[in-house]
Amino acid sequence: MVQDQLIRRGISDEKVLKAFREVPRHKFVPEKYLDSAYGDFPLPIGEGQTVSQPYMVALMTECLELSGKETVLEIGTGSGYQAAILAKVAGEVYSIERIAPLARQAQLRLKDLGYRNIHIKTGDGTMGWKEFAPYDGIIVTAAAPSVPEVLFEQMGLQAKLVIPLGTRFSQILTVVSKHRDKIETKEICACVFVPLLGKYGWGQE
Ligand code: SAM
Repeated sequence: MVQDQLIRRGISDEKVLKAFREVPRHKFVPEKYLDSAYGDFPLPIGEGQTVSQPYMVALMTECLELSGKETVLEIGTGSGYQAAILAKVAGEVYSIERIAPLARQAQLRLKDLGYRNIHIKTGDGTMGWKEFAPYDGIIVTAAAPSVPEVLFEQMGLQAKLVIPLGTRFSQILTVVSKHRDKIETKEICACVFVPLLGKYGWGQE
């Protein structure tokens, strides 16, 4: 997976590659998908949700340009796999999931695997998690129509936010960088994510 899917496509941050070698992806997928856990595609995780393709998880992580000590917020915990990768390349990871059974399963799984720097809560991630702000990095793992305003407010002075922006059906992976009061955006590539549902996302279904 690391050589064929990540390095070959240009992922070069050694910390990110090391994290992928260490995190057992097969522990984050339902048993019936064990044989394809390391495949080059997203997989269903229940509740109509997915764990993203390994390359997309790596690319989003690399875009945050973390050095190891940062506080990161993830919106869309899902299986907990992205959170586990982040936990290897950042200091503390806060992650929000709107579907309670997914949040609970991810919490148990990450506890069993020994992670102590991941904090999960159930809720609407479009509101952010004010208590632990400001964040050095924010990663939104669901498709948004625009950047929820409160997330800008919860970014630190030099923070980066990675988010798929577009319609419910296709998006552009976008990196928003904050340099004090200045905001810069950079488009990375086309992508397809499940919708971000909530107050500042798409309407509830
Ligand atoms: N990062 C996850 C992983 O590693 O397995 C995959 C995330 S999946 C592509 C997107 C997740 O975002 C789903 O679990 C979905 O329930 C969640 N989601 C959608 N809208 C949300 C919101 N407003 N707040 C929190 N989570 C949300």
